[in-house]
Amino acid sequence: RTVVTTRGVTKAYGRTRALTGVDLDVRAGEVVGLVGHNGAGKSTLMRVLAGLEPCDQGTVVVGGTQVSPRDAGPGATAFRGVRMAYQETSLCPDLTVAENIWLSSRHCLPRLGWRRAAGAAVRRRLDEMFPGHGVSPRDRVADLSIARRQMVEIARASLVDRLDLLILDEPTESLGPDAARTLYDHVRRLAARGTAVLLISHRIGEVLSVADRVAVMRDGAVVAERPAAGLGERD
Ligand code: ADP
Ligand code: ADP
Repeated sequence: RTVVTTRGVTKAYGRTRALTGVDLDVRAGEVVGLVGHNGAGKSTLMRVLAGLEPCDQGTVVVGGTQVSPRDAGPGATAFRGVRMAYQETSLCPDLTVAENIWLSSRHCLPRLGWRRAAGAAVRRRLDEMFPGHGVSPRDRVADLSIARRQMVEIARASLVDRLDLLILDEPTESLGPDAARTLYDHVRRLAARGTAVLLISHRIGEVLSVADRVAVMRDGAVVAERPAAGLGERD
């Protein structure tokens, strides 16, 4: 099953052509590393796939739903099964961890309709994903380190009922090697359950160890795709 298909996707910011014609397919359960120099268009492509920004031209199909450029944008409902974990997290700093989960649950996690249920669910997921995480559902997000906020963000993303696609943009930037390893172990487990994962990272060793495939972007297009296994060591 193909979860993501893009054909000829373009996007410009004024005179800057951020995407010049992206063709990419990602299958269910596949981890794809997206690499390329700064300005190659990686983040823009991620935002388009997450439905956070419209593209100008081309076809984007995510989780079986074709999205015309005009349908995309903030609040697009076509992208229910997609979550993105950012470097700068989208958690509300003034709320607790449980309250943040509860807040998003009102839209996308209806089974967690109570704050206590949300707190328990995120605690369970954090225990699974990041043993020794040191986060309590009652902690105020503003009081947490960046690394811990990021763990909460990723745990929240993986609570979505049917997660078709998880987008990770430099997820280990503020994590130590052990936490990064734990995160990637969990990413592999999510993939084994059918979630497609797109990973942007400058740490090529990490990308090669976790990804099935590496896609290289240059000047707003995917210019090469290779199985990760052929490119470096895997454990
Ligand atoms: P990458 O993630 O590979 O570094 P980006 O997608 O961030 O690449 O950027 C691609 C191009 O689009 C760059 O030239 C960048 O300056 C430009 N760009 C990205 N986002 C914006 C924006 N919000 N406004 C204007 N230009 C942007
Ligand atoms: P709405 O119906 O208000 O658009 P969503 O179901 O799209 O709500 O979003 C619910 C929660 O998930 C919000 O807290 C929002 O910030 C977060 N969210 C939505 N889309 C994304 C995304 N692509 N990546 C990360 N978080 C997202």
